[in-house]
Amino acid sequence: MHPIQDAFPLLQTPKKIFITTHHKPDGDAIGSMLGLCLYLVKKGHTVVPVSPSELPDFLMWMPGVPAILNYEAESKKCEKALAEADIIFCVDFNDYSRTKHLTQQLTAATQPKILIDHHLLPAQVWDYGMSIPEKSSTCEMVYDFINLYGDNSLIDTDIAACLYTGVMTDTGAFRFPITTAAVHEMIADLKHKGLDHSRIHEEIYDSWSLRRMQFLGYVLLEKMEVFPKYNAAVISLSRKDLKLFNVTTGDTEGLVNYPLSIAGIRFATLITERADEVKFSFRSKGDFDVSSFARQYFSGGGHFNASGGRSTASFIDAVTNFKEILSDIHPR
Ligand code: 5GP
Ligand code: MN
Repeated sequence: MHPIQDAFPLLQTPKKIFITTHHKPDGDAIGSMLGLCLYLVKKGHTVVPVSPSELPDFLMWMPGVPAILNYEAESKKCEKALAEADIIFCVDFNDYSRTKHLTQQLTAATQPKILIDHHLLPAQVWDYGMSIPEKSSTCEMVYDFINLYGDNSLIDTDIAACLYTGVMTDTGAFRFPITTAAVHEMIADLKHKGLDHSRIHEEIYDSWSLRRMQFLGYVLLEKMEVFPKYNAAVISLSRKDLKLFNVTTGDTEGLVNYPLSIAGIRFATLITERADEVKFSFRSKGDFDVSSFARQYFSGGGHFNASGGRSTASFIDAVTNFKEILSDIHPR
């Protein structure tokens, strides 16, 4: 993969650009896709942002959302946009399989592909890009990319709102160790450009339905198991649990972090039964590497302290298997 600067000549004249991100997108995925999209449109390009699946409700307020195509709902339109594109940008993932439905199309596409991402171990399939695991978020990297191009002055309040969203959500609202001085300097710059940060906190964190809040209460009371011996806790949610509270996309967001607020818990896992697989989310504090853990046991990956994976076993078997691994490896 060549440095992203080598792709600048490609962007000197107006181009048709396809941008995509990972399946079940989060704040950083949509923030970086839209922030980049709004910037490239300002530069005179024609841009189609494509999400592999629907957006969670708490991101629907974001500037640029109406332009997003959802592959699950509009696959033909997305495939046409991909076929017509001159350039493909991929943000907040580093392996085609993370896009699920778009995997084959991206693999087959012959246009120049540009990566902007902060996950560990990128696949060697991009022509140009930035892959920096030390970065807090892909949104921070889109901000760096715009600056690298000398376009800081093009960052308006809409782009600032998109980029802020991803930095805020990926840093746990600026509390994780990955929150560097550079992150705070970036936010200061966005504030100078008119960012209304408290509105964004409200949109993301204070927009729960009563049902979602009650679901959280149920989950913490009934569905969380704590293993003090391993400094670990696991929340497991079957399809039945999810149906009981009519859980929709986004309702389980952040659940995995709650156990880490218990004194002594340094490893938290959320196991969710989905239609076609069992999904694992891992979070840790300190030096337990959940990225390697996810890769080794659950066909996944991600970051050192936040990762995900999956199992094709039945839900019950997947939960049992996880607990066996826990007792085998004794995380500390
Ligand atoms: P989440 O638990 O929120 O789904 O994922 C946590 C982090 O790990 C996110 O940054 C996400 O992109 C990454 N991640 C989740 N699942 C996978 C996976 O299967 N493979 C890789 N490489 N990363 C993942
Ligand atoms: Mn991210």
